[in-house]
Amino acid sequence: MDDLQYGTRNKRGDWAPNTHPQIPFFWSKPLDLGKWVTFLVGYVWPWNAFHMAVTLIYWNYLLPDFETMKTLSWGWALWLYAVNGIGIFAMYGSIEFFYYWKRRQGTRFKYNSKFPSEQPSDVFWFKSQNIDNFLKSYVYGIVFWTLVEVLILWSFANHYVPWLDWSAHPVWLAVLLLATPLIHEVHFFTIHRIIHIPILYKWVHSLHHNSVNPSPWSSLSMHPVETFLYHGVAFWHLVLFSNPLIALFQLNMAGYGAINGHIGFDKLELNDETTLDSHAYLHYLHHKYFEVNYGGDGLIPLDQWFGSWHDGSKEAQDRMEARYAAKVARLNAKQ
Ligand SMILES: [Zn+2]
Ligand SMILES: [Zn+2]
Repeated sequence: MDDLQYGTRNKRGDWAPNTHPQIPFFWSKPLDLGKWVTFLVGYVWPWNAFHMAVTLIYWNYLLPDFETMKTLSWGWALWLYAVNGIGIFAMYGSIEFFYYWKRRQGTRFKYNSKFPSEQPSDVFWFKSQNIDNFLKSYVYGIVFWTLVEVLILWSFANHYVPWLDWSAHPVWLAVLLLATPLIHEVHFFTIHRIIHIPILYKWVHSLHHNSVNPSPWSSLSMHPVETFLYHGVAFWHLVLFSNPLIALFQLNMAGYGAINGHIGFDKLELNDETTLDSHAYLHYLHHKYFEVNYGGDGLIPLDQWFGSWHDGSKEAQDRMEARYAAKVARLNAKQ
């Protein structure tokens, strides 16, 4: 497939898309009904449908029964850690294997022409981004994800929080289910913006940002505080009059969905004709420039409202550089 039909490659070999990511149409033209259909299809398919399929497999086959989960114990907590760990190994590992190890599409659609394995660095354990990110995903990322999961399931099992039934509250639960990506967007933007405050950045978030050229294993390579806050998005379902299935979906969207920003390719070629959009560009730019795109897809355009939106265009680049220059001038004036 010819990626130059869709974008351009600079002297370094880095590829950038011709079309820039946009915030959803309804923020300017909410009554354009034709666009709602296309939007809703993309809203569900393929990524959220995948997260729901994973969640239903958890719910029907993998979760311990709620009677067991009334009592906190290592047994079922470790079981859930294993389930999450194996699930992530299968999903992230296959993308890593085909696109980074086998390099089945080379650098086509790849934002950064280098692969992390070609760039050893002292900031990483064993000088390797891949080994470092993989290990930190398993000793920090998935551990604190599982802790959030255990606390939520235990709370529901004991009815410490409202557990709404689908048959009694179908409309509210459907609304809540549809709102999960919006909850994710607001929660992620907020905690992410907070951990960019310099002192927190230094102690917490810089670990994740060591990967300037992110790859699949970078996704959950986070400091324990960050991974707890990030997966803590599912705690909203303890107070929103929800139900454990929706809470679990929200949590899996965070855990399995973290890879989207870190795939490193704009499109994954599945075969000669079919590609899968990664939605990675905005977060790739965040790893590259640090102080832009704190949110996810811009579903709620928080970055636009707060002036940190960068869609890869020249205007966005100029805006960012002007903002940085003003910041440097402010800091110099203080000295
Ligand atoms: Zn990231
Ligand atoms: Zn960040």
